[in-house]
Amino acid sequence: MKAAYFNIDNLIRPTIKALKPYSSARDEFQGTSDAMVFLDANENPFENGVNRYPDPQQSGVKAILSEIKNVSSKNMLLGNGSDEVLDLIFRVFCEPNKDNIIILPPTYGMYSVLANINAIGIKEVQLSNSFQPQVETILNAVDDSSKILFLCSPNNPTGNSFSSQSIEELLNRFKGIVVIDEAYIDFSREKSWIYRLEEFPNLIVTQTLSKAYGMAGIRLGVCYASTEIISVLNRIKPPYNVNELTQQKAIQQLSIEDLTTNQINDILKERALLISELDAISFISKIYPSDANFVLVKVDNATKRYDQLIEQGIVIRNRTTQPGCENCLRLTVGTSKENKVLIKTLKGL
Ligand SMILES: *Cc1c(COP(=O)(O)O)cnc(C)c1O
Repeated sequence: MKAAYFNIDNLIRPTIKALKPYSSARDEFQGTSDAMVFLDANENPFENGVNRYPDPQQSGVKAILSEIKNVSSKNMLLGNGSDEVLDLIFRVFCEPNKDNIIILPPTYGMYSVLANINAIGIKEVQLSNSFQPQVETILNAVDDSSKILFLCSPNNPTGNSFSSQSIEELLNRFKGIVVIDEAYIDFSREKSWIYRLEEFPNLIVTQTLSKAYGMAGIRLGVCYASTEIISVLNRIKPPYNVNELTQQKAIQQLSIEDLTTNQINDILKERALLISELDAISFISKIYPSDANFVLVKVDNATKRYDQLIEQGIVIRNRTTQPGCENCLRLTVGTSKENKVLIKTLKGL
């Protein structure tokens, strides 16, 4: 079994292993009592709601997430959006100008941007015609410097989930870290992989409050992994990486019972409606199955249709330059009213 031979220590960059982390005032003393006098962090003492540094470990947010997701806070790391979380993962495991990552296009653009920023090589193995991972081709592309495999499921921009059998096989056979980006998991029929962290010590799952949870504006990304991986990510994260206003807003929104569940159900109903309406548009030749809050469609001429929609005041995403997505447009599911405007406009083109 994986756990028997997998040793996380062999994957961490030597620089990171040797690092002595910055110890912040709030790391060295965590007071809970309001009666305490805090003269340790050079803050302005006059109260305005944000004059104090935020909790570096975001324990309030983690406690609520732990309840919602049924995963221990010890298996979580929060970041300034998933993008920060992904960047931290790169910097822990990938040695610049030496290591590489594996991505499966067409997929989320940030993996390769972050790889380029960090001077990490990129190996691309295109998804199959049905946008599924080609397991053997992926494993054949691996070399000794392949540190991370990114699986985005449900995948952006295609909208489908990857087969769980393929994911499991990759988790078992890839010797590096497997990051499963679950930005859209709350819209999916598939179960999250956060419930299988104990089985796969090389698994990191990322989620976000930007999509289903309706908080793209506060920038809060979540990483779920083994306590070993979380503790090494904690060593390199900026001490106060999630600001006070973000933590407060997240706690407030996440505490509203059924809010997200109801909104997700609404969006899923709207998605079904939208798909049935799109079916009647003559220049749409294909509607790809969606497990997310958007739908990928193939049209006669993506750039022409994109420009026409802009002219009518509707902004969608043109994905035609992505491999395997020629003449494809990505449509986010909006409110009932917005979707009706979209359909009406498409019918008039
Ligand atoms: C939107 C999205 C994210 C979210 O990123 P944030 O930085 O948390 O807003 C992550 N991954 C994918 C695939 C996405 O589409």
